[in-house]
This record gives sequence, structure tokens and C-alpha cells, in this order.
Amino acid sequence: MTNVTEIFGSLVFDDRTMEARLPKETYKALQNTMKSGKHLDPSVATVVANAMKDWAIEKGATHFTHWFQPMTGITAEKHDSFISPKAGGKVIMEFSGKELIQGEPDASSFPSGGLRATFEARGYTAWDATSYAFIKDGVLCIPTVFCSYGGEALDQKTALLRSMEAINRQALRVLKLFGNTAVQSVKTTVGPEQEYFLVDKAMYDQRKDLIYTGRTLFGARAPKGQELDDHYFGAIKPRVSAFMKDLNEELWKLGILAKTEHNEVAPAQHEMAPIFSTTNIAADHNQLTMEIMQKVAKRHDLVCLLHEKPFAGVNGSGKHNNWSISTDTGVNLLEPGETPYENAQFLLLLCAVIKAVDEYQDLLRISVASAGNDHRLGANEAPPAIVSMFLGSDLSEILEAIEEDKKYDAKQKDVMRIGVHTLPRFPKDTTDRNRTSPFAFTGNKFEFRMLGSSASISCANTVLNTAVAEELRQFADELEGAADFETSLHDLIKRTIAEHKRIIFNGDGYDDSWVKEAEKRGLYNLKSTPDALAHMMDEKNVTLFSSHNVLTPTELAARHEVRLENYCKVVNIEALTMLDMARKDILPAMSAYSAQLAEDCEKKVALYEDADCSYERETVKNLCALIGAAHRGVRKLEADLLATKSITDMAELADAYKTTILDDMRTLRISVDGMETIASAKAWPYPTYGDLLFGVR
Ligand code: ADP
Ligand code: MG
Repeated sequence: MTNVTEIFGSLVFDDRTMEARLPKETYKALQNTMKSGKHLDPSVATVVANAMKDWAIEKGATHFTHWFQPMTGITAEKHDSFISPKAGGKVIMEFSGKELIQGEPDASSFPSGGLRATFEARGYTAWDATSYAFIKDGVLCIPTVFCSYGGEALDQKTALLRSMEAINRQALRVLKLFGNTAVQSVKTTVGPEQEYFLVDKAMYDQRKDLIYTGRTLFGARAPKGQELDDHYFGAIKPRVSAFMKDLNEELWKLGILAKTEHNEVAPAQHEMAPIFSTTNIAADHNQLTMEIMQKVAKRHDLVCLLHEKPFAGVNGSGKHNNWSISTDTGVNLLEPGETPYENAQFLLLLCAVIKAVDEYQDLLRISVASAGNDHRLGANEAPPAIVSMFLGSDLSEILEAIEEDKKYDAKQKDVMRIGVHTLPRFPKDTTDRNRTSPFAFTGNKFEFRMLGSSASISCANTVLNTAVAEELRQFADELEGAADFETSLHDLIKRTIAEHKRIIFNGDGYDDSWVKEAEKRGLYNLKSTPDALAHMMDEKNVTLFSSHNVLTPTELAARHEVRLENYCKVVNIEALTMLDMARKDILPAMSAYSAQLAEDCEKKVALYEDADCSYERETVKNLCALIGAAHRGVRKLEADLLATKSITDMAELADAYKTTILDDMRTLRISVDGMETIASAKAWPYPTYGDLLFGVR
């Protein structure tokens, strides 16, 4: 039996380890830096580096790395060993304060969206002391941010940290208005629920589409899908269970609070939810979780698919981003309070979120946009591409009472007044039912459900933090100058509800009528990544990020470029993979197979002139038609891909991929899947959907 409490965090240079291993003064100085976000004194860094190195070597580490999150969406690391030559051909193990604080990786091969001129290829990494160092595969990993020499952010984390500072600044102003002066810092917290698929490695290895793109580009439906709902929360199969046990242990060693695991809706689909933590740590941990899931799967001869839509016809995978705001005094600010005053504060924060989601719908949609996630959002299995908020009936009624100066319930003597009336306790059950909402209040936090399973959570949380920071700024500006705080507060909340209630929708987000209703309300319906990205550089968005010092206009433009480029590249790889599979495997296999059938038929007729060859004849006929159609599909896709080469404008190129290329791909798939349906299983060159989805036992 594993002793969980013993292994938990055993590979992390966490608070416990720091306290035990650092001189008291150093420990205190480091704590200060971590709490306040102030710069670390170089002399402190030297002592910390030494202690870290000794600890890491005891745990078997030989190398260190600055671990960072470039705009590729995955993590990057370059290992350096601790060794340093000494006289007599010997080495000693060294790690300096400078090496801890700063690194200089060659940045030229990471996407920069034009930020990093080619003559200045170096970037630098700087220690993020708020996230603990850890050991992975014998390497001491130092969580870092990654910037260009000019100081522009080249990674996901810098913006996320800046957005946390922004919301901290503004939330403190608001809390002060409510007399909360003991609070020194406010942080957002996140618990990301991670969905994934597990498939057998031997089968995966035979599918070029899975290998190159992470999703199946062809594949006829299996006789069974998810229609019986017999997978969700079902008994976990032994191989999967062994994987989960192993995964939990690896995550626990890294101090990741893996908590819940279960089977998801689609066959072969599963979920892992951690206990929430501070946002930047949750982001680091989620990156690690995705990496470890893939590594542990291999040990079990499985492959973990993190793609948003690995299989057509069954649900794809997302990542529910549970988000809240809490104080260093341990108060969750999205928890309705006990007293009228606490309630008033809660309602103001709630209004900030409502206003933020309404005014920055486009940015929230953009923050989750990717070629992979486009297959999910709006496919009636995940939230629609329209951003809206679910508050539940209880809370909605309260807001309505405030807006319309009505009584909230019969027991109340007069109309709902903020700061006077207490809110009722919301039973959690009534708030957590709507699974179709992209952004749902779940009692004491919001669940943003549009994130794709493979994406870093940094981008979505950067947008969320910054947008809410902006609303809090506006609220603080207004209320700080108010003569009568309570009246102004009431008016502000009332006005905000009236102006932004269009974003609140408690109905069924999968229903077609919602699309029309949303249009009437003037909400965005940004169906694809190129559609969404077209709004990224809108003036209000540029202003939002620059005014809160989260991203300069140049940094934002660079991100825009990187996102468009990534979209084009992903679709291009998918198209090329389809061509390769069709040309090299599928068409030759089907041509040979139909010829074989024809030959069989001839042989039968030679033996018995009137032999019934209807199966062979019809199949050959249908296959020939499909082979012809597939061949034309290949030619068209190829020609259209060639035509994209002449498009120089990136947005135009993304549009071409979205319309022409994806259309061609869909057409080609139809004829190929048609062939798979009628051809012999033996003749088909790849493992089928049935093999992949039901193959792990
Ligand atoms: P369920 O959705 O299964 O009812 P919970 O709602 O309790 O479970 O939790 C779902 C996720 O939300 C978990 O990852 C949990 O840690 C996270 N969560 C709970 N409270 C908060 C909070 N205050 N801030 C951020 N995430 C939270
Ligand atoms: Mg939940």
C-alpha cells in the first residue's frame, strides 16, 4: 500500500522542505518574496540555490532546468547538469543563485509572433518564486517566466501573473470600501477538471492520423457509441484503473492534489479533477498533469489522447475551469455571506463577473479558440460557441428583485435592499444542474466550461482575471467618490444588472432556439477560431490588456499572430495527413480489395455460370464509385492546399483553411468512411473506431 501522506509532495521543494533546509533568515526573505511578489535579493538566491541543489541531488537529480510555457501551449525545458570541473579531472556539483534566478535559452525556435527579431534570438527565463521547484525524471525543474530581451512576454505565464496582479490591485480597492482592511492580497483560484481518452498503444501506432494530429481524420462509426450512457461513472476497467492509480501517485509526488477520477460520457473517455489551488500554480500543475498522463499511459501500453475531438460521433474532451477569488485571510469572495454586508460585497463581485463576461464575451471565446476545440464548441456535446452565464433560478430571482425594486420573497417586509437584506443560502444542488452553460455559477465559484482539453488554462484565466479587474476598477472608481456609499452601491448593482442581464441565460444552451434568442440579445456567436480571432485586436480589447499592464498592444498583436499561425499549421498538417493516408494506404488497399472481389466473382462464374455474385458485383461497383470520389477528393484537397500557398495575409489564410480546406477534408472523409463501412475488416488498413474505443479492457 502506498502511504499517500508520505509520498505527497516528496518531489517538491515546498514550504515544508524550505523551512527544514533553509536558514531562518533566508526562509523568511523567500516567504516575503512569494507573498508580496517582490524581487528576490541575489544573496538570498545563492543560499536557496544551494539548498535546492543539495535536496535535489539527495533525490537522485543530476540536472536542472528552467521550466517554462512558451506560446506553443506545452512546456519547454533544456537540461543542464550540475557538474563543474575541478582540478585533477574531478567534478563537483554546483548550482548558483544566478542560475536559479535567470536563464538564457535560445528563443529562436519558439513562436514569438514577430516579437523577437531574428538577430536577437536570445530570450531569458526568470524564476517564478510563487510556484515551487520540483523534480521530474531526475531533473530539478525551476518554474520560470519567459521573456524577450526587450522584456516582452514570450510565454503564457507572464501574462497570467500580470493578470493576477491586476485583479489583486482592483479587488483590494473594492474590499477596502467594505471596511476589509485586514486583507493584504487577493488571489484567484482554479480547479481544472481534465478530460482525456485512453486507447491501446499498439492500435494507436497503426494510425497516422492519431500520431500526427492527435485525432482520427477518418473512421466509420462503430455499431455502438455512447447512446446507452453506460460508460459515464461506470465501473473502471482494470487496465484503466491501474493507469489511474499510477497517475495519482506520480501527481501526488509532485504535490498535485489529484482528487476525483471517473469514466466520462464517451467510451474510452475519463476525467481527473484536482483540488483547486492558486491560479498560476493550477496552471503549472495542469501542464504537468497533461504531461504525466501521457507518460504514465505509455507505461501501461496505452496512449492518452488530449485532443478536443479525437473521435467523430462521440463527445470530445474539455477542461472545466472552476474559478473563484479569495483573500489571504481565507475568504472565498464568491461565497454568499452570512450578513447583509457580506452579501452586498458578494453581489458587487458577482456583478463585476456578470459585466466582465458580457463586455468581454469575445475575449473569453477567443481564449478557448483552437482548431481542435472548434470541433467541440457548438456540437451539442459541449457548450455552444455563444458565451452566456448560468446563475440558477435563486440568484436570478434575487437580481430581478433588486433590478425591479421588488420583494424577493413573501417573508420580506419591503423591497430588496442591498446592505439591509440577507440573502438566503443557496443549496448547491440548485446551482449545479445546467451542464449546457458555458459559464455557470456553482454556489461559490464559476465554472468556465469552454476550455479545450489540450490547451493551457493560462489564456482563459488571463482574460477572466483581467476582465474582472477592469470591472472592479470601474466600480471602485465610482464608489470611492460616493457621498452615500450604500445608496451608490445599490444603484450601481441595480444598473449593472439592468445593463448586462442579457448575458444571463438559465435555459438549455443546446437548443436551437437559444441561437436565435442570443442573436436577438446581440450576443456574439463566434463559431470558429478565425471568426473569434478577428475580434482579438478590437480596440476595447487592446485597451483592456494595456491599461492593466497585462499585455502591451505589441504583445497582444504577437499573440494574435501566433494563434492564427497555429490554426493554419494545425489544419495544414491534418490535410497533409489525410492525403498521405488516402494515397498510401486507403486507396491502394481498396483498389486491391475490389480487384480481388472481381476476381472472386469471375472464378465463381467460371465454375457455375449462374452463380449469384450480387455481393461481389454490388460491392465492387460501390467501392469503385467511392474510390473514384475519394480520388477526386484527394485531387481537390491537394489543389486547394496548393492555392493557399499564394495567400500572404494570415487572417485570409486562416479563413481559407476554415472554409475550403476543412470542407475538402469533410468531403474526402465521407467517401473514405463509406468504403470502410462496406469493405472487409481484413482489407481495411487501420484499426477501426470499434477497436480504438472499445479496445482497452
Ligand atoms: P463537483 O463539480 O463534482 O460537484 P466541486 O464543484 O466541489 O465538485 O468541485 C469541482 C472543482 O472545483 C474541483 O476541482 C474543486 O477543487 C474546484 N473548486 C472548488 N472550490 C473552488 C474555489 N473556491 N475556487 C476554484 N475552484 C474550486
Ligand atoms: Mg463541477
